Amino acid sequence: MLQFDTIIIGAGISGLYQLHKCRDELNLKTLVIEEGSDIGGTWYWNRYPGARCDSESHTYGYTFSKKIYKNWIWKEKYPKQNTILKYLKFVEKKLDLKKDILFNNKIISARYLERKNLWKIETNKNKVFLTKYLICAVGSLSSANIPKIKGLNAYKGKYYHTGRWPKKKVNLKDQVIAQIGTGSSGIQVAPEIAKVVKKLVIFQRTPNYSIPARNKKLTKEIINNYLKNYEKIKKLIKKTPGGHTFSFPNRSVFDFSKIERDKIFEKAWLKGSLAFRACFGDITKNLKANQKASNFIKEKILKIVKDKKIAKILTNFDHPFTSKRPTLNTNYYETFNKKNVQLVDLKTNPIIKITKKGIKTKNKDFNFDKIIFATGYDALTGPLLSLNLVGKKQIKLKDYWSKIPKSYLGLMIPKFPNLFIIQGPGSPSVLTNVPVQIEQHVEWITHCISFIELNKKRSIEASLSSAKNWSNEIKKLADASLFMKAKSSWYKGDNIPGKPKVFIPYPGGLPRYRNICNKVEKNQYKEFLIK
Ligand SMILES: Cc1cc2nc3c(=O)[nH]c(=O)nc-3n(C[C@H](O)[C@H](O)[C@H](O)COP(=O)(O)OP(=O)(O)OC[C@H]3O[C@@H](n4cnc5c(N)ncnc54)[C@H](O)[C@@H]3O)c2cc1C
Repeated sequence: MLQFDTIIIGAGISGLYQLHKCRDELNLKTLVIEEGSDIGGTWYWNRYPGARCDSESHTYGYTFSKKIYKNWIWKEKYPKQNTILKYLKFVEKKLDLKKDILFNNKIISARYLERKNLWKIETNKNKVFLTKYLICAVGSLSSANIPKIKGLNAYKGKYYHTGRWPKKKVNLKDQVIAQIGTGSSGIQVAPEIAKVVKKLVIFQRTPNYSIPARNKKLTKEIINNYLKNYEKIKKLIKKTPGGHTFSFPNRSVFDFSKIERDKIFEKAWLKGSLAFRACFGDITKNLKANQKASNFIKEKILKIVKDKKIAKILTNFDHPFTSKRPTLNTNYYETFNKKNVQLVDLKTNPIIKITKKGIKTKNKDFNFDKIIFATGYDALTGPLLSLNLVGKKQIKLKDYWSKIPKSYLGLMIPKFPNLFIIQGPGSPSVLTNVPVQIEQHVEWITHCISFIELNKKRSIEASLSSAKNWSNEIKKLADASLFMKAKSSWYKGDNIPGKPKVFIPYPGGLPRYRNICNKVEKNQYKEFLIK
């Protein structure tokens, strides 16, 4: 049985950087194990038409190396899936990472051997490894969720999930296609496939707020500017709550008349960016202020979409703006003006079952050549639970997390020694421009392992009290936020039957979180059990 100092699960942005740190900085014998046949994580799996980043390209990537930052040129404001994949391949080559990655192997179990202080892990190809440190870089949006709809097995056509899109081109031309789901991926995929299909029927459970992306090619001047400002950008994205270049101003929605306010909204709408939510400081905090932004967006949609009935369904919001993942779009609302696009409101016309030929709703039987599930993920906890982790005293993570995903800082779990998580539940993760969070986590984990090694310790484990306090802190912050005003959101597990209904990520913002993590490190991990 091969033994390593560190095994990292996942070869996305997290796993690649963590491999570099453990192998090249700490000189640990390190292996990455990845289910896919290549690196890239999210950007390896999400090859659906229209897949793109909503973070601005010059902030979506690694900042730890000036050389890497300055040697890659982003050509668009919001890069496409295959551009990000090329970027990650460029980084992989620079750091010579592939030689330490095992592809096409999915971890199916990981068990802590208490006496040996080692993790024993097993893959679906019957490979077994031992390791002192196990680092989960499995992503928070990597467990694709296809809802359990009656009859799916009987369906004779092909079906796809956006997050598991095949490498081979999927033929959609002149076909009749169903799209279930209108979250971030659904909003991106619909305008692209509507261009080629005979008919696209979109099934919407709840409408989403979406701001125009207004993607554009970056001019030489813009590119030179961001390259020149590498140090500034690196500092800035560490200071803002979401790891983007924008922060929230002090000004309130209520400091302005409607005309003045709408001017500000209009400017941001025409610019197009996730920064729309930062037009005023209180949009994401105060429900009444939020309603002003929500109304502005609603009016815009009502103007774009010509069919009044469809426009009404698209604006029948049941949650405050930003209480669910904010999305950007390119012609999403305009797509509903096309003759070959139809919208089904699942609130009034729910799916009864999937049939051999298509989908039966309360009011109609549809025939489809293909079905596309843009139904999201078992977010944050799903990828970790599917590892079948077993910690001290044979405790299963599934049982340990049956009521709440207990962790300290989203980085470590009591009873699971030497097991680290990158952007795990309980960390800001999905509420941020994720690579910024990833770099912070990878660096924290690297320092922590270095501390254990330098002090010749066997193991480190989060204490029960620290995890309890952390869960309370998350609950307190979430309860005071607008996130909990969303009727149903994957941030609190509502999309997966049986999942605990608690707010999962840390909603206190990256700078506050980073300070807490830095203090823990400075105090030599006093809240942890070290042996
Ligand atoms: C469609 C989409 C769009 C997104 N857009 C943005 C955006 O605009 N801005 C932003 O900040 N973030 C965005 N994200 C979030 C995105 O996931 C992160 O930005 C980032 O890519 C996460 O990197 P990661 O390495 O942590 O995880 P991932 O990229 O998810 O990689 C995890 C890897 O672990 C592997 N893995 C998981 N389980 C196992 C197992 N049991 N055995 C072996 N391998 C395993 C997976 O195959 C995967 O390759 C988006 C996510 C999606 C799905």
